[in-house]
Amino acid sequence: MQTTETAGAGTEVVLLGTAGGPRVRTDRAGIASAVVVDGALYLVDFGYGALRQLKFAGLGLAALRAGFVTHLHSDHVADLANLLLYGWYDGLEGIAEPVRLYGPGTRGRAAAVAAGMPEPGLVGPDDPVPGLAATMRHLWQAFATDANDRIRDNGRSHPDRLLAVHDIALPHGVAFDADSAPAPPMEPFVVHEDERVRVSAILVQHAPMTPAYAFRFDTAHGSVVFSGDTGVCDNMVTLATGADVLVHEAIDEQWVHRQYPDDSDPVARAMIAHHTTAHTSIPDAGRVARKAGVGTLVLNHLVPGVSERPRWHEAAEHFGGTLIVGADLDRIPVSH
Ligand SMILES: [Zn+2]
Repeated sequence: MQTTETAGAGTEVVLLGTAGGPRVRTDRAGIASAVVVDGALYLVDFGYGALRQLKFAGLGLAALRAGFVTHLHSDHVADLANLLLYGWYDGLEGIAEPVRLYGPGTRGRAAAVAAGMPEPGLVGPDDPVPGLAATMRHLWQAFATDANDRIRDNGRSHPDRLLAVHDIALPHGVAFDADSAPAPPMEPFVVHEDERVRVSAILVQHAPMTPAYAFRFDTAHGSVVFSGDTGVCDNMVTLATGADVLVHEAIDEQWVHRQYPDDSDPVARAMIAHHTTAHTSIPDAGRVARKAGVGTLVLNHLVPGVSERPRWHEAAEHFGGTLIVGADLDRIPVSH
């Protein structure tokens, strides 16, 4: 018999994958996290290997209640198609009601070409910046030969029976602009609520990949915040204030400068600018955690995603709470 929930009471974060960036690593899977609340499963981001990591963690899709996508960079969504294509045969089929998936809507128009770079053209010029709902529609279209075979020959459910995809709508009055105001000052707003969790979102600074969200889970046991990808921004502190656990991205800023030593090259300049304004350095991750007054800081989305570098612990120089340098399959209890 298929179980619908994993065992155990309480709230726990399971780091499924902790590598940032679209590179295949042997020691870390792509970015993805699970929140388990009284046995019910919630997922945040779907980097490559997320579903396999879920299995290694002893968790199953039959317990999945909702999924949350922080932004549409490939290292956060590469396994989204597999949620259905493998989920059909691994727990999703038979689910009582469609799993809700929440993520960014379209940014409206493609971002400008970075300064000094030639015009490269557009991929998918008819729909160059699909939001999450359109992305999933395009995925079903891409896999339609398989999907129609599965539902017509194998008796699998239509995807709409299993997954309900929602583009996150910003509250009225938020002065968001995809290019000029990616993370205007705002209050967190609720995107999902059920009997176990209330999940709030806020815009964060990951331009030109906009909109980008951080998420906060409040449960009866405690609260946990996921930064997604962001540079330092006030909204991140607003959302994380008073949280028990903050799972925050970090980038080794010294590595960035070693990677791109020739800053006369426009591509190198663009990459340095991206890494230093759209991501958070190791010391700044500690500062954000201190400002927000969180109990535990968990570093994830580590760039570079190699495990032997000792610099991650330097975040502790700026933060007095508990510091955990995230590793794949780490389990972190969330309690007041
Ligand atoms: Zn990103």
